[in-house]
This record gives sequence, C-alpha cells and structure tokens, in this order.
Amino acid sequence: MQPSPPMFDLRFLGTGWSHGVPMLACDCPVCLGNHPRNRRRRPSLQVLAGGMTAVIDTGPDFRDQALTFGITRLDAVFMTHEHADHVMGLDDVRRFTWARTEPLPIYADPVTLERLRIVYPYVSEVRIPGKAVPKIRFVPWESPVEVAGVRYSRLDVPHADNLPCCGVLLERGEVRVAYIPDCNDLPGPVKDRIRDADVLILNALRHRPHPAHLTLERSLELLKELNPRRGYITHMGCDFDYPALNPGLPEGIEMAYDGLRIGVSSSLRHAGQRV
Ligand SMILES: [Zn+2]
Ligand SMILES: [Zn+2]
Ligand SMILES: [Zn+2]
Repeated sequence: MQPSPPMFDLRFLGTGWSHGVPMLACDCPVCLGNHPRNRRRRPSLQVLAGGMTAVIDTGPDFRDQALTFGITRLDAVFMTHEHADHVMGLDDVRRFTWARTEPLPIYADPVTLERLRIVYPYVSEVRIPGKAVPKIRFVPWESPVEVAGVRYSRLDVPHADNLPCCGVLLERGEVRVAYIPDCNDLPGPVKDRIRDADVLILNALRHRPHPAHLTLERSLELLKELNPRRGYITHMGCDFDYPALNPGLPEGIEMAYDGLRIGVSSSLRHAGQRV
C-alpha cells in the first residue's frame, strides 16, 4: 500500500530544559562536547499543516529557532504555561504579524494569559497614543481550537507550585499526537486521552528526581504504559548524551533533537523522517 502523504508535520524547534544545552558555565562532557544532537534550545514544537504554521511555546530561543529553521509565517501560538523557557520569545513573534490582516492569536489558559498581559502589555494594547499596536490577540484556550484542520486541546498536567500547565493533544481524523513538555506526573484522565496515541512526546529532565519534572526512568515507564506507536523524549538537560543514550532506548522510543521533523500520516499512522 502506498503511504498517504502526511496529514501534518511536526518539527522540534527546541528540546532542551530551561537552561538549554550547552548550559552556561557547565563543564560536563555533553556541554563541552559540541555534538550537534546535544545542542538543545529551549522547548518548542512547530506544527505544519496545509501551508500554515502553529508553534507550541515561544521561549527565549524563538528568534534563533525561527532563523535556523526558516519559519516565515505564523498562524497561531499555543502556550503551555508561564515559565520563562516557554514564553520569553513572545516579543519576537511581533514580526510575524506584519504580513497579517487578522490578529495573530496567542492561546493559553486564562491565568497564563494574565501573566503574559503583564509582561507584554504593548503587544496587544495601545501604550503610546498614535503608535501602532502589533496585531496580536490573547485568546483564552478553554475548548479545542482548530488551525489548518488540526485540533489543539489542552491536556492539563501537574508541574510546579499549582501553576496551570498543559500539554497539547493534536488531532486530525483518527491521528492523535500528544506533546507534554513539562509535567511531574500524568493524571488518569490525561492518560486515558493519550493512550495508544500515534506519537507521544514526553519530557525527561535528568536521572536525578526533580519536584517539577519527570526523570528519564519515569518517562520511559509512562511511555511503556501508554503504548504510543512512537515515543519521543524532550525537555532534556545535559545528563543525556545523544550518541551514548539514544541507541539503547526501548524499541519505538527516541530522544528528540532540535530540527527533527516527523510526518504524521493516516495510512501509516506515523512515519519518521530525519532532516
Ligand atoms: Zn520548561
Ligand atoms: Zn552540562
Ligand atoms: Zn515549566
């Protein structure tokens, strides 16, 4: 059977933890080693569908990511939570509003939106009379949102200090992809929604336990339990050396890396391709 063309594509723009890799002032072998797949920008995922682009999280590396991976248009931004490694590139999103007639929607839960309004009032409000305001609209993300035929739903997960935080469920037809860059556990109702997904992208910070994140060992347990057709690890620190660790991961599970692009199709249900 001929594989059908991808229904949508995913591209990892960043796969690192909040410090990125290499981390500043770290002399570990991964940080000093300069292996291209150990260079991890702050976490972000691009979704390409029907010539449109959505981005999940715009962290402090967003400008570099847009330049490196050739992003030339933006149709929607989804924010998972207010932490700096996920939102501090929002200022650079303004450039993508220049060519738009409609405002660019930034979707987030209401609490996160309030924080964004405090940090970035000038992107959506008149601050200086007579000065143009970027065409950005903060939109509460309460129910599923559709962009270019892909449905985006919040997967609310525990992370840190009762802060609202979510992963994202992407659906088109029967295809399901779950992207959960930050969490310290997965509640039962979220597990039920992402079980047997085509692609499950889950965080793993390091080996040592952390109150706000999953360890690699816990993440691998969850991936095994949830049984995706393909699993990826993201939001990684510098404990993890790609060439040493990736070949030993269980069948069907890989470390993601910056620039990795995945075509998600309906006939194969998934297909991986490296760029
Ligand atoms: Zn994070
Ligand atoms: Zn390091
Ligand atoms: Zn976080």
